[in-house]
Amino acid sequence: MSARPKKSFGQHFLHDRRFIDSIVSAIAPRSDDFLVEIGPGEGALTLPLLKVSGKLTAIELDTDLIPGLQARASGIGELHIVHADVLKIDFSAMAHSHGVPRLRLAGNLPYYISSPILFHCVEHAAAIQDMHFMLQKEVVERMAATPGSKVYGRLSVMLQLACRVEPLFDVPPEAFRPPPKVESAVVRLVPLPSHELHDARPEHVYAVVKAAFGQRRKTLANALKQLLDSDAIRRADIDPRARAETLAPEDFVRLAKVYSSQG
Ligand code: SAM
Repeated sequence: MSARPKKSFGQHFLHDRRFIDSIVSAIAPRSDDFLVEIGPGEGALTLPLLKVSGKLTAIELDTDLIPGLQARASGIGELHIVHADVLKIDFSAMAHSHGVPRLRLAGNLPYYISSPILFHCVEHAAAIQDMHFMLQKEVVERMAATPGSKVYGRLSVMLQLACRVEPLFDVPPEAFRPPPKVESAVVRLVPLPSHELHDARPEHVYAVVKAAFGQRRKTLANALKQLLDSDAIRRADIDPRARAETLAPEDFVRLAKVYSSQG
């Protein structure tokens, strides 16, 4: 029996077979993968993934959904459900404790916390092989945006420094129950082997990016004045009269390094 979807948990259950099949094909699970699903809900993706992979770990916050899901998985494969808030899950420790080098993450994410989930995953990028996420289309566009685009910002820079961002396909509201008010899209994220963030202190990159885009219409000299003066910006080989939206992701790493060197 289906539960009534809860708005407060961002529950929009996928029911259109074509999109479910496309997501499973994009993930292409193998039996030796360590697959982790975020927000399995009633199992729209969980059960087909389990059929192919044979085992899966799923993280679900809503207790009411867990017994039904566990029952539905019986006879299909080994489903391990973790009752937790995904933001509290230490993916690096999870990989380590299971003796696997890297996890494969997937999920039709709860949209109300999609950016915090993405930033959380980036923190654990070294323990992740890849991620396949359903998100609001507008969020996927921001993640993949390039300098100069209106939607290029904090999310684009932080994600592109850590991952290759590959938008895969769009999904209309009717594919879900209840339909969300927005269009959705599926994206693949592949952590970069030695990602640029490693060269700088991630919290400093984050501070610079946040300040720069906090006042995106101002020049960098103005937007960054609490962190870096014009000479310091020039030391990073960047024109202090430029605006944040014209900088490539790696430019922010150079700014963060100058910021770190100031002590
Ligand atoms: N995967 C299912 C599907 O495609 O039909 C459900 C997707 S629904 C958009 C999001 C799921 O994430 C829900 O099952 C919801 O209960 C769960 N969820 C919400 N917040 C969560 C959190 N902080 N941690 C883990 N799961 C969460």
